[in-house]
Amino acid sequence: MKMSLVKKLSMGFILVILGSIILASTISNYTVGNKFKNYLVDEQKTKIDNVLKIIDDLYSGQKESSEINTDEIQRYAELQDLYIEIKDIHDNTLYSSGKSYLQKNGMMGNMMGSMMNNSYGINMGEYTENKYPLVSNNKEEVGTIIIGYFGTSYLSSASVSFISTLNHSFIVSALVALIFGIIISIVMSKQISKPLAQITETANKMRNGDLNVRAKVNSNTKEIVELSNSINYLSQTLSNQEMLRKRLTSDMAHELRTPLTTLKTHVEAFIDGIWEPTNERFETFYNEIDRLTKMVNNLRDLAKFEQININLNKSKVNLSNELGKVVDTYEPLYIKKNYELTSIITPEIKANIDIDKFKQIMNNLLSNSYKHLRSNGKVKVVLKKENNSIIIKIIDNGIGIPDKDIPYIFERFYRSDLSRNKNTGGSGIGLTITKAFVEAHGGKIYLESTVNKGTTFTLEFPNIF
Ligand code: ADP
Repeated sequence: MKMSLVKKLSMGFILVILGSIILASTISNYTVGNKFKNYLVDEQKTKIDNVLKIIDDLYSGQKESSEINTDEIQRYAELQDLYIEIKDIHDNTLYSSGKSYLQKNGMMGNMMGSMMNNSYGINMGEYTENKYPLVSNNKEEVGTIIIGYFGTSYLSSASVSFISTLNHSFIVSALVALIFGIIISIVMSKQISKPLAQITETANKMRNGDLNVRAKVNSNTKEIVELSNSINYLSQTLSNQEMLRKRLTSDMAHELRTPLTTLKTHVEAFIDGIWEPTNERFETFYNEIDRLTKMVNNLRDLAKFEQININLNKSKVNLSNELGKVVDTYEPLYIKKNYELTSIITPEIKANIDIDKFKQIMNNLLSNSYKHLRSNGKVKVVLKKENNSIIIKIIDNGIGIPDKDIPYIFERFYRSDLSRNKNTGGSGIGLTITKAFVEAHGGKIYLESTVNKGTTFTLEFPNIF
């Protein structure tokens, strides 16, 4: 059964409150009752001791029993609700207080009294009589004292009313705590459920395609704030992906349209007889078809790359030598364009890497730098060890990357407008693959770039040796 948060919390609160009140009242009733029981037993004992003392004092003298003034005993008996009878050694009654004043029903009618009777085992209603020896001055037993009382006389009305007040206050505090608990639970659950409802609403809007929506929750609950941040992050990521997807579609359309239009117009010119089919013109055709083929191949590569987990074929290599060799292959290309390619390579740096993937990483980065250079272009490659890491830097003074493009540069098919204008002919997947290869080695790749000043790509590999 599904239950709202408010209901669930309120029920939880009510159960806890009721449970604690019942527990507290049972424990305190029991302890207070026990204390009273002991107190009452002591009190009764003192009463009886007192009466025995009074009687002993009166009867221990040498007076004839007929001369003894029993008024004091009578007063005491009536005051303390005791039945007192004094007998001589021959069982003749010398004195009897009578039983007419004993208050049996006073307490028996009292509910609290009967509760006490059950709970604490005090003899509340039964009449009890005990016999005590009456001794003379010279320690001789001269008779018997009989003291009787109703159990009810054990419990003074003050003690009963104390326990009743205590229980009453438990009931009142239970009610107050319940009301308080319900209010608190409603307030608390509202505080939790309101932001949750907002987050759900945001997620629903996202599901319906609104990726610009963000959850703006006002909560001081850590988990809720984290959930809200995650939802916002998710919608930001989805929105970026959506933007990239749209951009890719329009890019692809644009990239495909250019060669196709060229081919179409040229073929039309042939058909109309405006153009002679020369070798040169066929070469242009060939180049355009080549571009189209490259693009399609790139797309196929990316599809493959996304399907397969990257399997690394690692071996221990001399990274300094390998990097030197890659740089050397670019030398002629640079010389041809009057660019400058330099390298500062710390010798004998060894690493446990997949050498083919490493070469692909370096080729992507070096050809990117090359493609984005302007006249007087310079590229510098650095290899060094730093803080237990292997660092490789590719520094160029090319066209740079605008700040707004930097966050997306490693996304598939992303190309900066500058690069597009320069007609570098790329397809925007080189860096996506490069990053995936670097990360597969446990490394990191990042860049710094300033438009018209240049770009620096940094690779950081953990130093495995
Ligand atoms: P592409 O095939 O277009 O080169 P990449 O993924 O390798 O794809 O690069 C993505 C984009 O990053 C490029 O289109 C370009 O806009 C930008 N870029 C990469 N390297 C550089 C660089 N060294 N200087 C300027 N822009 C660069």
